[in-house]
Amino acid sequence: MAGRSGSIAIGIDLGTTYSCVGVWRNNRVEIIPNDQGNRTTSSYVAFKETERLVGDAAKNEATRNPTNTVFDAKRLIGRRFSDPCVQSDKKLWPFKVIEGSGDRPNIVVDYQGEEKQFSAEEISSMILTKMKEVAEAFLGCIVKDVVVTVPAYFNDAQRQATKDAGVIAGLNVMRIMDEPTAAAVAYGFDTNEVNSPVKKNVLIFDLGGGTFDVSLLSISNGLIEVKATAGDTHLGGEDFDNHMLNHFVEEFRKKQRKDISSNPKALRRLKTACEQAKRILSTTTQTVVNLDCLYEGIDFYSGITRARFEELNANLFEKCIEIVTRCHEDAGIDKDNIDVVVLVGGSTRIPKVQQLLKDYFSGKELCKSIHPDEAVAYGAAVHAANLSGQDCEEIRNLVLIDVTPLSLGISLLGGSTSVIIPKNTPVPTEKSRVYSTTIDFQSAFSFKVYEGERVRCEDNNLLGHFRLPGIHPARRGETKMKVTFKIDSDGILHISAEEPVSGRKNEITLINRKGRLSKEEIDRMLCEAEMYRMEDLQLKKKFLAKNSLEEYAYGLRNLVEEDHVITKAPSEYVKYIAEAVDETIEWLMHDVPMDASEYDARKKELVEMSSTLSKMSL
Ligand code: AMP
Repeated sequence: MAGRSGSIAIGIDLGTTYSCVGVWRNNRVEIIPNDQGNRTTSSYVAFKETERLVGDAAKNEATRNPTNTVFDAKRLIGRRFSDPCVQSDKKLWPFKVIEGSGDRPNIVVDYQGEEKQFSAEEISSMILTKMKEVAEAFLGCIVKDVVVTVPAYFNDAQRQATKDAGVIAGLNVMRIMDEPTAAAVAYGFDTNEVNSPVKKNVLIFDLGGGTFDVSLLSISNGLIEVKATAGDTHLGGEDFDNHMLNHFVEEFRKKQRKDISSNPKALRRLKTACEQAKRILSTTTQTVVNLDCLYEGIDFYSGITRARFEELNANLFEKCIEIVTRCHEDAGIDKDNIDVVVLVGGSTRIPKVQQLLKDYFSGKELCKSIHPDEAVAYGAAVHAANLSGQDCEEIRNLVLIDVTPLSLGISLLGGSTSVIIPKNTPVPTEKSRVYSTTIDFQSAFSFKVYEGERVRCEDNNLLGHFRLPGIHPARRGETKMKVTFKIDSDGILHISAEEPVSGRKNEITLINRKGRLSKEEIDRMLCEAEMYRMEDLQLKKKFLAKNSLEEYAYGLRNLVEEDHVITKAPSEYVKYIAEAVDETIEWLMHDVPMDASEYDARKKELVEMSSTLSKMSL
């Protein structure tokens, strides 16, 4: 159903390992299956000699072509190359990540025989495009408007970069929505509690493939209000897989005295096996990992128990509970006053995680009724419908209030942070603080902007440098400047400053755009994305034409062998066609033409021969 704008808006959960898309139709959310019939799509892009694959087909390439199959773009997006997380992840990825301009990480792959570099935004845009196409195939119309979700704990740069990925995919990102808020919307709609007058405190525990988010929300009368949020953008299923992987790499080293960690293919195969073993351990207490010819012809066979898996990850599981504590303490809500604990994200299927959480909440039953893999896309679809003005009362009445996950402030003389917007402030928000000059006849105000909770600004995350030149020169402390921080509904920060005596304002320029793409780069990537899309379309056309010719040639080969043809048609003509068919089949096996038209032309010739033959065989 179309909204006020006349177009259909969709919700996309852009996950680290899987993505999911949903739409509000016929007064409910529909999660859209992809071309393989799967309701979630692998967040993978594979670059091959002849084509580019996105989604499930790309994941299937991961073991065959590990260095050119890219995943985990969400772990890179909006981060700097020098970020310690990027440096440690880099060691485990089979694909190459190098330092690009402005300390940005670039992914290096071989595509169509050439070395190519892509930013995390571009890889994410390819996944977003795939999800858009999945939705378009299902809905039968063009889709432009989307809500894209991000972990609540994503910082400004990560949110901006996700939005940029949407722009590169040619989408209109109506809103960047926090994943736990989306999950809470799904819970509220699924249970119909969103419209209940009785207020409920709901804790969303979202442990996915790469990120962990906890949010405490209150739900009543169509209002979903985030009270506090906490999390770790670098904690999830992949870390559990990696701990198991390291365990087996070590075991292999001890048993065989060989180190497989420098062999991407072996590492990838072992990691895939670890992920499978981890999933099995959620339902049984032990399993095996069995890989033939893992490294230098040596087979690897080993067992692992659930207890060992839990021990390997004990510190990470404990960390999850610590983050839960931080979240409800920040909200000023005692854990006994939390009415529902909702599990979201594939990794919440791990029994130990559930047990620790249940123990923490004194035996409270955990809510598993909403689908952990689909809840976020569900909530995003509801929000998309709400923003596009769906004509439905419960959608229209929905009000969402998010909070800012990190404190935002500026550096003061001496290196301490002056917080302007404290963490967990409801957004959108606008707050100002007045600062004075620190030296006599100061002619400009310069400061750095940080996000984070540490007192010393250098321990926080630097967002940028700001400068306001031409201020009123006076004795130290006399000239005042009002700094205003505004956070929009996407959680993105806008900064302005004003010095009333000189009337100087809005002169602040963000000098440090490190880690972000420039407008020109986004425009270039947008063009390239269109070019890749056209290339993919051409390839698709070529494959279809090839298939069609192949099918026709084999059909014709069968026809010339049929009795009524052999008896009625002149034998030279039958022989002539049989030879033409054989030649076509041979050509199909060895030649790759430039475009689909050559296949079409050959098919046309065969069709003409076949129709002459039919007339002769009457
Ligand atoms: P998400 O990002 O929410 O789609 O979560 C994906 C993560 O959930 C991946 O790391 C999966 O390995 C993990 N996962 C899915 N099913 C299970 C399961 N049965 N047991 C443990 N982890 C799982």
